[in-house]
Amino acid sequence: MIRTTCPYCGVGCGVRAEAGDDGAVTVAGDALHPASRGRLCVKGAALGETVGLEGRLLSPMLRSEAGLQAVPWEAALDKVAEGFRRIVAEHGPDAVALYVSGQLLTEDYYVANKFMKGYIGSANIDTNSRLCMSAAVAGHKRAFGEDIVPGCYEDFELADLVVLVGSNAAWCHPTLYQRIVRAREARPQMKVVVIDPRRTATCDLADLHLPLKPGSDVWLFNGLLAWLATQGALDSAWVEAHTAGLGEALDAAGQAGSLLDVAKACRLDPQQVLAFYELFARTEKTVTAFTMGVNQSSSGADKVNAIINCHLATGRIGRPGMGPFSLTGQPNAMGGREVGGLANMLAAHMELDDPAQRAAVQAFWDAPRMAHQPGLKAVDLFHAIEAGTVKAVWIMATNPLVSLPEADQARRALAKCELVVVSDIVQDTDTNALAHVLLPALGWGEKDGTVTNSERCISRQRAFLPAPGQARPDWEIVCDVARRMGFNGFDFTSPHQIFDEHARLSSWQNGAGSQRRRLFDIGGLAGMTHSDYDALEPVQWPVCRPGDRTRRLFGDGRFSHPDGRARFVPTRARLPAHLPDDEFPLVLNTGRVRDQWHTMTRTGRSPRLAEHLPEPYIDMHPQDALLCGVKEGELARLRSNWGAGVARVRHGGGIARGSVFMPIHWSGRTASDARVGAVVNPAVDPVSGEPEFKHTPVRIEPF
Ligand code: SF4
Repeated sequence: MIRTTCPYCGVGCGVRAEAGDDGAVTVAGDALHPASRGRLCVKGAALGETVGLEGRLLSPMLRSEAGLQAVPWEAALDKVAEGFRRIVAEHGPDAVALYVSGQLLTEDYYVANKFMKGYIGSANIDTNSRLCMSAAVAGHKRAFGEDIVPGCYEDFELADLVVLVGSNAAWCHPTLYQRIVRAREARPQMKVVVIDPRRTATCDLADLHLPLKPGSDVWLFNGLLAWLATQGALDSAWVEAHTAGLGEALDAAGQAGSLLDVAKACRLDPQQVLAFYELFARTEKTVTAFTMGVNQSSSGADKVNAIINCHLATGRIGRPGMGPFSLTGQPNAMGGREVGGLANMLAAHMELDDPAQRAAVQAFWDAPRMAHQPGLKAVDLFHAIEAGTVKAVWIMATNPLVSLPEADQARRALAKCELVVVSDIVQDTDTNALAHVLLPALGWGEKDGTVTNSERCISRQRAFLPAPGQARPDWEIVCDVARRMGFNGFDFTSPHQIFDEHARLSSWQNGAGSQRRRLFDIGGLAGMTHSDYDALEPVQWPVCRPGDRTRRLFGDGRFSHPDGRARFVPTRARLPAHLPDDEFPLVLNTGRVRDQWHTMTRTGRSPRLAEHLPEPYIDMHPQDALLCGVKEGELARLRSNWGAGVARVRHGGGIARGSVFMPIHWSGRTASDARVGAVVNPAVDPVSGEPEFKHTPVRIEPF
C-alpha cells in the first residue's frame, strides 16, 4: 500500500492505494492523514475505477494537414520550444502564455511559474484556480497582508457556530462536512447556519437556512457588522490593538441600512436575519466558511472581506474554534498560490509589483529576464488570444473550452491562435480538438510530488502505477522545453529537487531584507534527503524550522501588513454585473454535483459514480418551468446573451422562483452541448479577476 492524497477537492484526504497483479487498483482511507482520518467520500472511494488507460493520451502528437499524428518526444518538444522562442523574439515575452491548473502538483507549478516569470520574462501564467478562489486570495491579501487561511479543520469541530456561506459542503467537501455532522452529534448545542440561495443537501444539517437573493452577501455581512456595532458586540480592545480601518468599514457597512433594509435587499425574512445576527453576536467560537458561492461573483473579493470584517471586529480569528475559512475547490489550488501560479503573484507569497521582491526572486533564480508587471488573468488572457496579442498558449491539465465563462469565446480564441500546446492525460477533449501539439502527462497514481489543502497542509501524492505509454511528469516536460530554449536553472531530475528549491526560496525571501514578515515559510523542509521527501508526513505550513507544527495563524494578533495590523476593508454592496430582464428573466447558478469532478475525464469512467446523476440537467422551480413551456424530464435549451446549452429539466426542490441551476461537468462532446460554461457571462470581479459563475441572466426554451 502506498500512502497518497486524493486528487479531487481541496479537503485533501489521505488515501492508501495499491495496484494488484491484475492491474486492479484498490483504495482505502488513510487513518493517519490529519485531514480525513481514514475517511473518503464516494469520489475518493471510486478512485480505483478511474485509472484505466482507455482514452488516455499516450504519445506526443503534432497536428498536420492529415490531423493529429503521433511523433517522438523530441519532435514535439522542439516544436514547442521553437514556437515559443520565435514568437517571443518577434513579438516580445507577453505574446506567449501558460494556462495551468489546480490539478498540477506544487513541483509542476513551481517550474512552470519559474519558466514564465523568470526566463520568458512575462507574468502571463494564470490558472483555472482563478475561476474558483482568486477572490479569497484577494480578500486575504487585503485583510491580512498575505494570502493565508488562518485556521484548520479541527476548528469546525471546536466551533459552537459554523456558518457555511455559498457552500454545499455535503456534496463538494464531503469528508469535512461529515466532521461537522459528527461534531454536532457529539455536542448537540453546536449550531449550523447555511447561507445559500439554494436549499442544498448541506441544509439538512442547518439550524437556520438563509436563502438569500443571489449576489446579496455583502448586504448581509455589512448589515451584520453594523448591527454588531450598535449592539456593543465588537471587541474594541482587540480591534484597537491589532487592526486598522474599522471606522471606514463601518461607514461603508452602514449604507446597508436598517435590519429591515438588509432583509429586503437580501430577500429574507427579517426574523431570520435577526436570528442569524443574534447567534453570531453571542457565539464567540464561530467559524464562517465560504467557497464558490461567495468567490464566483463580480464582487467576490468584497464578499470575502465583508465576512472577514465581522471576524476582525469581534477578534475571532486564529484561536481554536473560530475564524473565517476559505474552502478551496481543487486539490492543489493552495500549492499553486504558494509558488505564485497566478498572473498577479510572484513566488513564495512575494509581490510582482514590488521591485525589491522581484529583484530578490530574480537573484535567487539567477533569472535572465524577470516579469515586471502582472500578467493577464484567465478571462482577459483568452480575450487577448482572440485579439491576437497572445499568439502562443500552453495549457496544462485543464479543459478551458468547457470550464471558462463564455466558453464559445475561448473556442474562437484557440481556433485563431498560432500555437496551442496542451499537456493532458486524456486525448479527446473540447480543448485538445484545437491543439497543434499534444503532450502526454502523467495522472494521479503515476505522478509524484506534493499538494496543499485548504488548511495549509502539505501532503505527498505518490506514484504507485507505472508511467503509461510515453507519458511524462509535467515538471519534466516544462524543464525539457526550457532547456531547449537555452535556459539554465531547469536541471531538475526529480520533484524532490524542485521542492527543495521551493522550500529554500520561501525562507530565503524572509531573510532577504524584506520589511514585511511573511508567514509562508517552509524553510524547515529544505535540505531533506530524497528518502526524507519520499517519507514526508502531512504537515501544515509555516515550517520555519524542522519539526515546526503550526495549527493556526494570527492568534498572536500579528498580521503580515508592514505594521503588523490587519485591515478592515470598506465593502460597498453592489448588484451583480448583469441583471435579469424581460428577455432573460431567470438567474443561472452553476456548481458541482456530488459524484463528479470537473469535466469528468476521470470520474466519468466510473459507472458507480454515474448512478447518482447520470446526465446534465437544469434544475428549476415547477412554476418557472410552466411559464417557460418546459416539463420535467424533457430536454430544454438554456440560453443567455453569451451562448446556449441543452439539458433535461429537473425539479430538485431546492430552487427558488426566478433561479435555475446547472452543473459544470458535462462537455460539448456529447449528443447535445451541455457546456454550461458556454452560457455563463464573462463579467469578472475587478479586484480578483474571478468570473461571475453564480449569476447569469438566462431564459429556458423547449428543445
Ligand atoms: Fe476527500 Fe474531497 Fe477526495 Fe472526497 S473528493 S475523498 S472529500 S479530497
